[in-house]
Amino acid sequence: MLPGFEYLNGDLHFDGQSVSKLAAQFKTPLYVYSERLIQERYESYVRGAAGRRVQICFAVKANSNLSVLRLLAGLGAGADIVSGGELYRCQKAGMPSSKIVFSGVGKTDDEIEAALQAQIMLFSVESAEELNRLSALAARSGQRAPVSLRMNPDVDAKTHPYISTGLKANKFGIPYTEFDAMIDHAQTLPGIELSGFGYHIGSQLTDVSGFEEAALRGKELARRFLEKMGKLPFLDAGGGLGIRYKGEAPPEPEQYVRRILSILDFPETTILFEPGRSIVGSAGALLTTILFRKENEEKTFYICDAAMNDLIRPALYSAYHEILPAREDRVSDRNPLRRGDLVGPVCETGDFLARDRDLPHFEQSDIAALATTGAYGFVMASNYNSRPRPAEVMIAGGKPVLIRRRETLDGLISAELDLS
Ligand SMILES: *Cc1c(COP(=O)(O)O)cnc(C)c1O
Repeated sequence: MLPGFEYLNGDLHFDGQSVSKLAAQFKTPLYVYSERLIQERYESYVRGAAGRRVQICFAVKANSNLSVLRLLAGLGAGADIVSGGELYRCQKAGMPSSKIVFSGVGKTDDEIEAALQAQIMLFSVESAEELNRLSALAARSGQRAPVSLRMNPDVDAKTHPYISTGLKANKFGIPYTEFDAMIDHAQTLPGIELSGFGYHIGSQLTDVSGFEEAALRGKELARRFLEKMGKLPFLDAGGGLGIRYKGEAPPEPEQYVRRILSILDFPETTILFEPGRSIVGSAGALLTTILFRKENEEKTFYICDAAMNDLIRPALYSAYHEILPAREDRVSDRNPLRRGDLVGPVCETGDFLARDRDLPHFEQSDIAALATTGAYGFVMASNYNSRPRPAEVMIAGGKPVLIRRRETLDGLISAELDLS
């Protein structure tokens, strides 16, 4: 079984709570997170960092619910943000600005100004034009913006092409061949405090070799930075550690962090890690109700009340999420798995949560749990087909707590101006 799941008297439980009862109490589709599992993963990072200067900056884009951010802030985490919206969420959740790094290739003036005003820890800058703009805006308000140069190490992360970011062919980062020139240029700018550099090569990496390759390049760049600047306050090793969706065997955060720190052996430097998925991914589940079944000669379609607008990963990346029936007896010798698709009500052929899989023999009104949906799940939800976004629940202190209400029909149209 995946972490957090177990059958008790034939009834599926997630972090000690009956999935059927959660569905009855909060309705479906419903995202459920486990405070305990989030905390365990964060603490594995902390153990790996023992004895070194390290700041873990949670990648907010993986799960930006205020309660998730508040939980992590309380454990000592900082944040890696990619928009002004994420900065706003961090501020609302009590995340200290002094632990926030602002990443992303396209920051607007408004976003930069908000981050300058908040006095965040670092701007991760991805181009010369961005550096110049940041300098101008900072200087205008008499500030020097702390900057980390995001380098593109040209390392193949060997992950899905849509989430690979460290190759020359990707839009991310500054080519590492331009490193020295960028350092020289940054030093001529009045509004820039050059404080380090970083990289992030991709997401869902399940093997340390890509990380090692990037860290070796990072080590070489760190030496050059030190030669030119005399000190290296920050080195940002990015995020991207993978999790087990289906049989993968990624290292534990603790082992991964130890290994990378052993390569990035600069004791005076604060090494940043920016994990998202590996902290929240396996700490979440999406519950859905089976509405109807349809069969043809080839397979069974199970039509459920969750759809691609609630969880887009299967449609976008052909992602696999394990599907667990709330009732254990839906899978048995008498009831073997059958070929089928789990699909939603959205009018798109791409609207599937599982395709051509061996699935439990669900019946109408059954509850199913899609595992490992705590990262890049709710945050990618949309209102396509005018479907209100799901509610979110956190299991905290042994009790389920509503942390986001289900979107209402009025909420769906609240920003629209009806000109009639
Ligand atoms: C997306 C992203 C992360 C987090 O990636 P995960 O795979 O969720 O750990 C970290 N840093 C940057 C710059 C990112 O874009």
